[in-house]
Amino acid sequence: MYPSKFDYHRPSSVQEAVQILSSNPDAKILAGGHSLIPVMKLRLAAPAALVDIGRIDALQGISRSNGSLRIGACVTYHEIANSADVQAAAPALAEAAGQIGDRQVRYRGTIGGNLSHADPASDLPAAALALGATLHVTGPGGSRSVSASDFFVDLMMTALQPDEILTGVEVPVAQSGTGSAYVKWEHPASGYALCGAAAVVTRGASGSCTGASLCFNGVSSTAVAATAVAASLVGSDLSDATIESAVGDLSIPDATGDMFASAGYRQELAKVMGARALSTARDRA
Ligand SMILES: Cc1cc2nc3c(=O)[nH]c(=O)nc-3n(C[C@H](O)[C@H](O)[C@H](O)COP(=O)(O)OP(=O)(O)OC[C@H]3O[C@@H](n4cnc5c(N)ncnc54)[C@H](O)[C@@H]3O)c2cc1C
Repeated sequence: MYPSKFDYHRPSSVQEAVQILSSNPDAKILAGGHSLIPVMKLRLAAPAALVDIGRIDALQGISRSNGSLRIGACVTYHEIANSADVQAAAPALAEAAGQIGDRQVRYRGTIGGNLSHADPASDLPAAALALGATLHVTGPGGSRSVSASDFFVDLMMTALQPDEILTGVEVPVAQSGTGSAYVKWEHPASGYALCGAAAVVTRGASGSCTGASLCFNGVSSTAVAATAVAASLVGSDLSDATIESAVGDLSIPDATGDMFASAGYRQELAKVMGARALSTARDRA
């Protein structure tokens, strides 16, 4: 299938891109194109114009300052997975990016596209949520910051307005005593997650848990935080038995079922993947 006809714009700045979006209500941003182009070819989307943000310098690059890592929206999965800075500061994000699709997808797909598309099975939303990422957004009214916990609204719905651009993602650099991990159980044909789990664990001087976060993708309509499980781990010894017992109580009330896996299966899978992510994060803390 071929997409329907569209105009093509290639702005060289964020301001120019925002201006094109504001004056073309039917325009869509084009980043890596690995979700947008397929849906256009299937005629599930027919934007009147594409705004290709791939050549905007301000959306590129990974930098580290003041205890956080700033990743431009157009940074690819390949760059993230292979960045020594990301591997050291936020291992869960590097691991999530490294498990997306195949090499072709990882060379083209971008963190901004992945988070903005908000596919429930996408790998990066759970990692962004668990790591406490902040998303930077620019629109006609200026720039604003949105926490990952407020960004993912529902199935393929985010806090972005149609004329706003996600410009970058800020992730706190892991302090000593903190470890993180992302693990995924993928569908054997598509490679998409039936369940992905991202965990962040912090241990105090005595070794006991002083902070924890556990988030999932692929299980419900949007990335979800298992806040009760994480809270129950704080103060614990983080032993395997403690983690098993905590995830045994996991409940994701709006777990979804489809032709690939029932809601009940996903719920049970989340317990297994959650325990694996937590124990790997603990071993790194
Ligand atoms: C074969 C295949 C396998 C895949 N496997 C996986 C997988 O295992 N895990 C996974 O997570 N994903 C997977 N994907 C999806 C892939 O990760 C896409 O790249 C991703 O969903 C979208 O990123 P993109 O940069 O390609 O965005 P695009 O396709 O260019 O855009 C996607 C959407 O986001 C919007 N958008 C893009 N950038 C911005 C921005 N900066 N600000 C605001 N809106 C923006 C676009 O307008 C569009 O609506 C796969 C895709 C393919 C084709």
